[in-house]
Amino acid sequence: MLGAMQDWTMRVTHVVDHAAREAGNREIVTRWADGSETRTNWAGIRRDALKMAQALERLGLKPGDKVASIAMNHSRHLVSWFGVAGMGGVLHTVNPRLFEDQLEYIVNHAEDRVVIYDAMFQPIIDLMKDRWPKVEHYICFDPGPGRAEGATSFEDWIGAEDGDYRWAEGSERDPCMICYTSGTTGNPKGVQYEHRSTLMHAMAGLQSAAFAFSAASVMLPVVPMFHAASWGLPYAGGMAGIKFVFSAVNDPAVLHEMMIKEGVTDSAGVPTVWLAHFQYCDAEGIDLPPLKVATIGGSAAPKSMIERLMKSGIRVQHAWGMTETSPIGTVGGPTHDWEQMSFDEKVAKIQMQGRPIFGVELRTVDLDNFTKVLPRDGKTSGALQIRGPWVVKRYFKAEEDAVTEDGWFDTGDVGILHPDGTLQLTDRTKDVIKSGGEWISSVELENAAVGHPAVAEAACIGMAHPRWDERPVLFVVRKPGQECDAESVIAFLSDKVAKWWLPDAVEFVDDIPHTATGKISKKDLRARFADYRLPDTE
Ligand code: ADP
Repeated sequence: MLGAMQDWTMRVTHVVDHAAREAGNREIVTRWADGSETRTNWAGIRRDALKMAQALERLGLKPGDKVASIAMNHSRHLVSWFGVAGMGGVLHTVNPRLFEDQLEYIVNHAEDRVVIYDAMFQPIIDLMKDRWPKVEHYICFDPGPGRAEGATSFEDWIGAEDGDYRWAEGSERDPCMICYTSGTTGNPKGVQYEHRSTLMHAMAGLQSAAFAFSAASVMLPVVPMFHAASWGLPYAGGMAGIKFVFSAVNDPAVLHEMMIKEGVTDSAGVPTVWLAHFQYCDAEGIDLPPLKVATIGGSAAPKSMIERLMKSGIRVQHAWGMTETSPIGTVGGPTHDWEQMSFDEKVAKIQMQGRPIFGVELRTVDLDNFTKVLPRDGKTSGALQIRGPWVVKRYFKAEEDAVTEDGWFDTGDVGILHPDGTLQLTDRTKDVIKSGGEWISSVELENAAVGHPAVAEAACIGMAHPRWDERPVLFVVRKPGQECDAESVIAFLSDKVAKWWLPDAVEFVDDIPHTATGKISKKDLRARFADYRLPDTE
């Protein structure tokens, strides 16, 4: 019989309604780019989101229309997550670090009608305005001077409304956000998150095996709101009614100060963010902030990073996912046998990417034909595939599904599945190094190398070799003021990886290129060293 339980359409506005009702006074603090700070709370976020939805309707926007944000993390950006979805629109969070051609492509492809941006990105607007013919309105999140002529200030714009608004109704399968992949091959691809998929993903993220928020949690998400829905944290945080601390700048000194001052318990970011924080603390001779939980994701968390955080008493959650998976696929935290493990065993466990959260399934298939499903034996590596309700089925405006007939999405990652469900990522399909018919994991070499006391960052790529096909070359950035040579790095690696994995050369560089999301860009590194020849092949 249908109808034994009540109807409840899964729309993301439930999150802000719940947070405002049950945790209305819980604070949302923002440190702005100009150094000023503001405080609002969940009730304030909801009130402003209602006004924003009204203001969007007044501009003539209809359900399904897209609104772009080009903004860092702050309370007004959070308002727009709910304001746009609340009027039935779709928020397109644009990564401001994309290249011009990508910015041109994605805003036009999404058909954004409104662009709301931080004043610090005014140069982007000036550069792109003529190339975005379909954008009708520009609104600036910052109140002060410095915005372009004709751009309204966000506070003035929503301030003209009374907030007497009812959220738009619609299907739970309507889109509420669109994120584009960074487009390492070809044009960026748009992934539309639906109201339902977003809510399910956020609820799954609340499990104690994942973000494990409590009402006492105070979260400073360093992961940008423009990157894969900030890992769903604003939604999960709203569900749990936590306090958020946002920083519109990513300076480690500012983050550190905010963490101490606001009593931050949880933070989340890509490894480079943590690395920068370590370097800041070392330079200042101070301890890491007294966090309870540090979530690391987006690329592999090196062993030395995990060790250092754990030794400071911080629980490390190593998460894996991608824009196409909303993004969380797996999260690694303490397992059932945690208390019986030695410190080194715990570190080794956290170095892997954790277990799937309820709702998604993983499998690996053979790297040659992508047809044979591989055993979960903790040793066989293969192409990683995923399926579940918050995994992409079809990219925005694509003509074909992006999944196999039985619904599996190929992640482009290579990994090993362990019998207890743990995922161990070993590489990306395009970065594994094929040497003499065998595979070498570039990521494992990098992770081992950053354990060297003088190494700040390392990136490994395969270079053409006449006999072996490819051989690894390691590019290393030294820590400031530290000396080390190639022999010392090789000696350090020699008891950590198989002998035939040892790099054929170690090259010292001043910097390693990063993508717009702060990950090592192997594509740019390869381009920079396109003329490189291995020492014994010259
Ligand atoms: P892009 O970096 O291409 O913009 P995503 O942010 O969606 O796109 O990146 C997803 C990819 O990042 C994954 O497919 C995987 O290769 C990598 N990744 C994410 N989390 C981890 C992790 N914890 N360990 C290793 N690699 C990771």
